[in-house]
Amino acid sequence: MTCFRLSLVGLALLAVSGCRTAGLLSAVDYRADKPVRNVIFVVGDGMGLAQITAGMYARDNTSVFEQFPVVGLIKTHSSDQLITDSAAGATAFSCGQKTYNGAIAVDSNRLPLRTIFEEGDERGYGTGVVVSSTITHATPAAFYAHDESRNNYEAIAEDLVLSGVDVGIGYGKEQFSARTDARDLLAILNERGFQVQDNLEAFDVRKHERQMVLLPGVDPPRANERPKDFLSRGAILAADQLKANREPFLLVVEGSQIDWAGHANDTEYLIGEMLDFEVALESLIRWAEKDGETLVVVTADHETGGLALTDGDLDQFSVVGSYSTKNHTAVMVPVFAFGPAATLFSGMYDNTAIYTKLRMALGWE
Ligand code: MG
Ligand code: ZN
Repeated sequence: MTCFRLSLVGLALLAVSGCRTAGLLSAVDYRADKPVRNVIFVVGDGMGLAQITAGMYARDNTSVFEQFPVVGLIKTHSSDQLITDSAAGATAFSCGQKTYNGAIAVDSNRLPLRTIFEEGDERGYGTGVVVSSTITHATPAAFYAHDESRNNYEAIAEDLVLSGVDVGIGYGKEQFSARTDARDLLAILNERGFQVQDNLEAFDVRKHERQMVLLPGVDPPRANERPKDFLSRGAILAADQLKANREPFLLVVEGSQIDWAGHANDTEYLIGEMLDFEVALESLIRWAEKDGETLVVVTADHETGGLALTDGDLDQFSVVGSYSTKNHTAVMVPVFAFGPAATLFSGMYDNTAIYTKLRMALGWE
C-alpha cells in the first residue's frame, strides 16, 4: 500500500515537471527542496475546522482551501496556559517560542525576541502586513513590535513606524495621528519615506516603494461594511508593491475578525468574515501560482467559540452553529500550504514549528 502511494506521488511529480501548462498542479513545484523566494503567511484569527466548514457550505459546498495540496495540524497552547491568546499565538509564529498570553514578541521574562521580520530585514527582505483589524492588533504586532502587553497600542504603533516594515494596510489611523502623547506618527512615516493614505484607491505601486494605508477607526467594521474585498485587494497591492521593490519578501495577511465573530457567537458575522477570507485566499493563490517562487501558508492562532455545526440543510447548504464558549479553545487548528516547499507543512506539530519551517523553506537554516 505504501509503495503504491509512493509511486503515485512519483507519477504526480513527473507530471508536474513534464507538463507545465496543464492546470493548477503543473504551475508550482511542491517538493520540499525547492527554494522559496517569498512567503505569504496568512492567519485566520480564531479559525478552526468548524469555521472553515461553515464558510465552505455558505459557498455552496466549495472552498479555496480545497486547492491547497498540503494540510497539517498545530497545537496552540501558550507557555503557561492551555488556552492561548492571539499575542502568544502570533509570537510563536514570528519568533518560534512559546510565551505568556498578551506578550508581543517578548519571552516569558519580558525580554525581546528576534522576529522573522527583523531577521528578514537583515537578510535584505521586504516585509508587509495587511489586516482587517487595527494594524496595531496583536497578530500583526508580534511580527514588527516588542511589548510586554498587547494593549499598549500607541507604543506598538511607534514600533511599527520605526520597524523595517515596507507596506502596512489596516485600521486605526487614530493611534498614529490622535495620540494621548500628541505625537504625530504620520509625519514620522512621511520623513521615513512612506506614502501614507487612508484608502486603498490611492495606493500606487508604481509611484512609491514604502506605503502605509491607515483607515480611520479603532473599532473596524465587519466585512460587509468594509470597502469591498478590502482584505483581498490590500493583500494583492502589498504583494505587488513588495515584488516591485525587487527584494524577496515576507508578507503577513490576517482575517482578523473571524475571531471576533467567534467571541460574539454570531454565525452570520462568522460566515461574512470567512467568505471575505476566502476571496483573499483565492487572489493570493492565483498571485503565488503566477509568481512561482512564493510559498503561501495559511493557519490560525487558535479556535474561537468552541464552534460545532449541529444542524443544517443539505439542499440549501446552510449550517446551524452551536458555541460552547465566548472565548478561545485549545483544539488543534489546521495549516494549509501552497507552492514551493509546501510539503514541509504536512503532519502534526507545535505552533512554534511554523517559524522553524518557514525559515527552513526560505533556506535560512
Ligand atoms: Mg488577530
Ligand atoms: Zn480572540
